[in-house]
Amino acid sequence: MGVVAGTELLTVNGRALADFLDWEFLTAEDELVIEARLPDGQEVVYEVERPEGETLGVELEPPTVRRCANKCEFCFIEGLPQGLRKPLYMRDDDYRLSFAYGNFATLSNVKERDIARILEYRLSPLYVSVHATPHEARKVLLNNPRVPDIMAQLTRLAEGGIQFHGQMVVVPGMNDGDVLEASLRDLWSLGDAVLSVALVPVGVTQFSHLYTGRSMDAVNAGLILDAVERWEERALAERGDRWVFGSDELYLLSERPLPGAEHYGDFVQIENGVGSVAMLRTRVSEGLDELPRLDGKRIGVVTGVSMGALMPELIEKLTERTGASFELLIMENSLFGATTTTAGLLVGADIRRALADRHDLDLALIPAETINDDGLFLDDERFITLRETLPMPVFPSYDFIDVLALEGEPHLSGRAA
Ligand code: SF4
Repeated sequence: MGVVAGTELLTVNGRALADFLDWEFLTAEDELVIEARLPDGQEVVYEVERPEGETLGVELEPPTVRRCANKCEFCFIEGLPQGLRKPLYMRDDDYRLSFAYGNFATLSNVKERDIARILEYRLSPLYVSVHATPHEARKVLLNNPRVPDIMAQLTRLAEGGIQFHGQMVVVPGMNDGDVLEASLRDLWSLGDAVLSVALVPVGVTQFSHLYTGRSMDAVNAGLILDAVERWEERALAERGDRWVFGSDELYLLSERPLPGAEHYGDFVQIENGVGSVAMLRTRVSEGLDELPRLDGKRIGVVTGVSMGALMPELIEKLTERTGASFELLIMENSLFGATTTTAGLLVGADIRRALADRHDLDLALIPAETINDDGLFLDDERFITLRETLPMPVFPSYDFIDVLALEGEPHLSGRAA
């Protein structure tokens, strides 16, 4: 219809468009009157009758992301060192992205008109950073005296048929103990509206300058898991699912065995590190049959301190199946400091340190999560540049199988990553 790049979409069926949500929902009709302004300033009206199921073929500019109004002591972004690329410091808190992509949002910056949209468009499920339901405790945690009452917000949305996945970052001395118990009780009272709750231990870096809480230790982690067990028992009895989950990190910190894959059902909170280890174990077990013999190959596996402890059991299976010899290279995080032990937060400099002198390795695997969609590590190192300086082929891998299954194919073996 002559819609060209740079066209401004103004209204659909007489309603003004504010953003991608309006466009998505208002164009769900089959008969549309769309007002637009072309890049040359000309205003046009399109009357569109769309066959069912067909898209309009319009690509929108990325939305302007809503900024966060809080200043949480435990904010990971406040714990970033200076000098990284600018987008890493952007603190988004956007219910629209919560619905569209599953990003967690606190709803602190949600206004009355936003509530009306959530209800009208039925933006469900939403992913909500609850952290605590008692209002005073939440104000302190979010470091924001103007934060709205989350229970009032959630109750209103729940009454309108909206469902949620909740998360609580648990800070010892702030929202563990009684606050945690009260929060779980409140969320439970919302019934089916709350689909799941993930409890995640606070993680601070050496740069977390706002943090005044106590550090998370084995005892605290164990107490949080005790609360998880109490509530999951009740949830299983009364609603037939676990409802509340502890993140993998809590099990690792408390040195309790990690549950198996069946514990996590559909892995609804995996983005929160809930069940990631079980998922990895399952992928490796299920993928072993796809692996070729790799006798004599020497393979380096770079990982972080947390995963390092869990790797030997996986490496044993991989060794037995392929005949290759694997070497674990467990790296401390040079950018965030030793307290940051997650493999996915290792940076280019750590990978370089692990592999630069390893002329004895035939192949190296690095955590795929360390690289973003633009091929950059958190320290701005570019993967393809780094890879060229290393003495062996290096592959980002999520689960070993994704890379090793292709190693037996002669035309792919030693392929460029
Ligand atoms: S809500 Fe808190 S943790 Fe999240 S971005 Fe804002 S300040 Fe950081």
